Amino acid sequence: MKSVLPAMDKEALLAADIAGELPDARGRFGPFGGRYIPETLVPAFDRLEQGARKFLPDPEFQASFQRELREWVGRPTALSFAPRLSKKWGAEVWIKREDLAHTGAHKINNAIGQALLAVKLGARRVIAETGAGQHGVASAAACARVGLPCRVYMGAIDMERQAPNVDRMLRLGAEVIPVKTGDQTLRAAIDEAMREWVSDPEGTYYLLGSAVGPHPYPWLVRELQAVIGQEAREQMMRQAGGLPDVAFACVGGGSNAIGLFYPLLGDAGIELIGVEAGGTGDGLGQNAATLATGTPGVLQGCYTMILQDDDGQVQETHSVSAGLDYSGVGPEHAMLQAVGRVSYVTATDDEALDALEEVCAEEGILTALETAHAYAAARRWAKANPGKRILIGNSGRGDKDMPTLSKFPPKGRK
Ligand SMILES: *Cc1c(COP(=O)(O)O)cnc(C)c1O
Repeated sequence: MKSVLPAMDKEALLAADIAGELPDARGRFGPFGGRYIPETLVPAFDRLEQGARKFLPDPEFQASFQRELREWVGRPTALSFAPRLSKKWGAEVWIKREDLAHTGAHKINNAIGQALLAVKLGARRVIAETGAGQHGVASAAACARVGLPCRVYMGAIDMERQAPNVDRMLRLGAEVIPVKTGDQTLRAAIDEAMREWVSDPEGTYYLLGSAVGPHPYPWLVRELQAVIGQEAREQMMRQAGGLPDVAFACVGGGSNAIGLFYPLLGDAGIELIGVEAGGTGDGLGQNAATLATGTPGVLQGCYTMILQDDDGQVQETHSVSAGLDYSGVGPEHAMLQAVGRVSYVTATDDEALDALEEVCAEEGILTALETAHAYAAARRWAKANPGKRILIGNSGRGDKDMPTLSKFPPKGRK
């Protein structure tokens, strides 16, 4: 499938994306994206798109968003030089610290931005979905901050696996609704939240957690997360004295990766590498490597790369990190892969666990299991390309992963 686009289209598409002209009027990034939704949801999506197009560029909205990022989220997050990893890898390693953002990951950038938008659109309440619970926690916190009630849909299986996050959401004043339909995980939770939205499209705001789903979400989430790459770009210039040779970010739905990559797309000298969950192997069901091993199809209202069998049945995924465990990916990533601007590789469960241990030991950063995939791929790349300047998007902190990590005691490092 790697060449669905003619050569000419590739250059034009990339140029259009860099110029801010994508998604197009139909919500497309080239062939990807769009809006495959039931008739009953069209008015809700139209209202959201019109509202987002009106308020996002509005100076007053931007001022309140920037103020919340600064005073409540704790931005700008630090850019840390990593002296010991640099020495071990034979590279110059810089880390963009989204783990230092409020609630422990990049997700809060999107959550507070959309919560502010919900207020502007006159919503009376917010609904959200969550898989591992991180987006649910960020949404609950953001809704408390802006004074809107929040209801979070969560798969019944995930509620059991991620009990501490359920408690955090409840403590932050959200209501958590167990979803017992479908696969009882993230995919079912998104379906359920959309169904709920239909019942009250005017009074309810649906706060989606990644750069996925029907238009305008992939664009809206990218716009709110691009602060990561904007800050990193400026910090690299100031602290490192120049831009990186390569940037790495882990990819689940793709929001932290597009947030880091989008402001760097126009710097042709920077290689961009997204890292997906390689799980336990290459077979269908053993990983969540949507871009590396998937095929195009429609999932949850969006034409993108997905994991499906020959009959088009969407497949279950596996990853040691709950946040990467999704069978689709944002449509902009599908396009950036097709035009050849970003490459997508995988790191296995074992490689991620090993990288996590190394980052803890060498830099004193307990990184999230999701993020550990980016480190694993960066380390591999550094060994093959000595002496380069590397930027790693550290999407979140690993405190939430302690229950999983307790099953994999540290191996002890040489
Ligand atoms: C949710 C999460 C991810 C994956 O989501 P994206 O939308 O792909 O960024 C990655 N890292 C952390 C720490 C997360 O919480």
